[in-house]
Amino acid sequence: MSTEYTFDKGKKACSKCARDFASGEEFVSTLHAAGEAFERRNWCRSCWTTPAADVFSFWKARMPERATRRPDNRTLLLQVFENRLRQEPREPAEAKLTYLLALILVQKRQFRLRDSVRRDGVEYLDLLKVADDRTLLVPVAPIADEEIDGLKTELEKLLETGPPAAPEEGAPGG
Ligand SMILES: [Zn+2]
Repeated sequence: MSTEYTFDKGKKACSKCARDFASGEEFVSTLHAAGEAFERRNWCRSCWTTPAADVFSFWKARMPERATRRPDNRTLLLQVFENRLRQEPREPAEAKLTYLLALILVQKRQFRLRDSVRRDGVEYLDLLKVADDRTLLVPVAPIADEEIDGLKTELEKLLETGPPAAPEEGAPGG
């Protein structure tokens, strides 16, 4: 089954000056949503200024120093979720990103799914942020059930830095 969404991971180089990042170098990554495309761009520290208007979220990244293990990305996912520049999604693709991030964070037990609620014809996930007991409502995006798992996986890969880690066979599935 083909999906209409595309994920552009960007190169491990600065989007502006095109310089390759060195091992251990810190840089800034931005996440963009446009149409059905989710795109990551990377910025070296001298090229980074402030997030442009089309940035969905941004975070500090670091090139791994050789064969490092895949870092625990729960903190990163929370940061990307909470660094969103706009609370109201600008376009449907941003609503999908928000929804997918929320689902990943539920799977990683950072959010607890309490209920789903409907207000003014819109369905929301009623979530509890485990770390500080904060509740939040995230609108359910119109994504087909059979597409969700694939999209979550792609989004997690998009946020990773460095070489792909070994597949986690037999990991508990949430
Ligand atoms: Zn640069």
